[in-house]
Amino acid sequence: MSSVFAFAAPSEGAPLERTTIERREPGSLDVVIDVAYAGICHSDIHTVRGDWGAQRYPLVPGHEIAGTVRAVGSEVTRFAVGDRVGVGCLVNSCGECTSCTVGDQQHCEKGATGTYGAIDRDGSVTQGGYSQQIVVTEDFVLRIPDAIALDRAAPLLCAGITTYSPLRHWNAGPGTRVAVVGLGGLGHMAVQIARAMGADVTVLSQTLAKAEDGLRLGAHRYLATSDPSTFRDNKRAFDLIINTVSAQIPVDDYLSLLDINGAMVCLGAPPEALSFDALRLINGRRSLAGSNIGGIAETQEMLDFCAEHNLASEIELIDADEINEAYRRVLASDVRFRFVIDAATLEQTNV
Ligand code: NAP
Ligand code: ZN
Repeated sequence: MSSVFAFAAPSEGAPLERTTIERREPGSLDVVIDVAYAGICHSDIHTVRGDWGAQRYPLVPGHEIAGTVRAVGSEVTRFAVGDRVGVGCLVNSCGECTSCTVGDQQHCEKGATGTYGAIDRDGSVTQGGYSQQIVVTEDFVLRIPDAIALDRAAPLLCAGITTYSPLRHWNAGPGTRVAVVGLGGLGHMAVQIARAMGADVTVLSQTLAKAEDGLRLGAHRYLATSDPSTFRDNKRAFDLIINTVSAQIPVDDYLSLLDINGAMVCLGAPPEALSFDALRLINGRRSLAGSNIGGIAETQEMLDFCAEHNLASEIELIDADEINEAYRRVLASDVRFRFVIDAATLEQTNV
């Protein structure tokens, strides 16, 4: 075991604080990673605030991890010391069920092992990326292309794959009219990826405050949902709506923006249930769907796609001491567009 510095939530809703955690000695298939950067996903905040139910504390969040390989187990074949690597939301799965067999580890029938707050195979609770090191079995380690800086790559491990996967699944491309609801961490990746896929892209944001950024990121149009004319003038205007909002929204208003056969895909996971009127689906044969991150192979495909198209997350790099303030700003929709923790600042230097 080796002891490393980390930031953890000591209890539900409490501010995160510096601590140390133990990382296991690498097994034969393990990769030991020196974490360089960890993104702050809104899911980290939902989790530590108890929005999604009780957790095991202390809890180290972080599932947008980028760093370099420090050591590898004796049977690791795909990674070597010094490689640039990433870890996303999953660190293990059964590997045998139908979902795992087709590469959809996120839907593992026995329950995939989340990067934090899950029970690992050895019975310990997994601890995430707000830490100096992480030890992960090689099948769940991703290769970060040289073209993407590590700090701007970190958020791709969740925000990137979570938006790439549904855009691929629902065939975003030339001729597809895509609306992205919410221009936060997920939303700003959805805009860039949908544009790179060739789709026609509109942002639906609460206000026009981030319009300049949205258009620069690749959106063709930027509309405010606080303006009633947005809903009045854009009925049946979209084939695909990607909903990244972390809170409740009036689903029916958005469904009315879908054309015949259109789909609204929910990525945001607010604590409260969303509700809708079935007639909004029936009239127009519309679909209301959801999507959960993506499998490991698809995550690698997304990283390679981003490298090829020169895409990455736009970040605000912060010190570990600024995590609690960053959480407050994410909750206030005040982030452009992902906070990323510089893991070098996790270490306590004043002792
Ligand atoms: P984020 O950076 O906070 O972005 C969410 C955006 O939603 C905000 O920037 C804001 O955009 C909009 N928004 C926030 N509150 C709103 C409200 N009350 N009404 C309308 N719009 C509102 O969060 P994120 O990290 O992108 O995550 C978004 C959601 O996706 C979270 O619920 C997270 O847990 C979930 N998530 C799901 C998956 C998955 O696999 N499905 C993966 C990762 C995250 P504007 O300022 O532009 O309006
Ligand atoms: Zn996430």
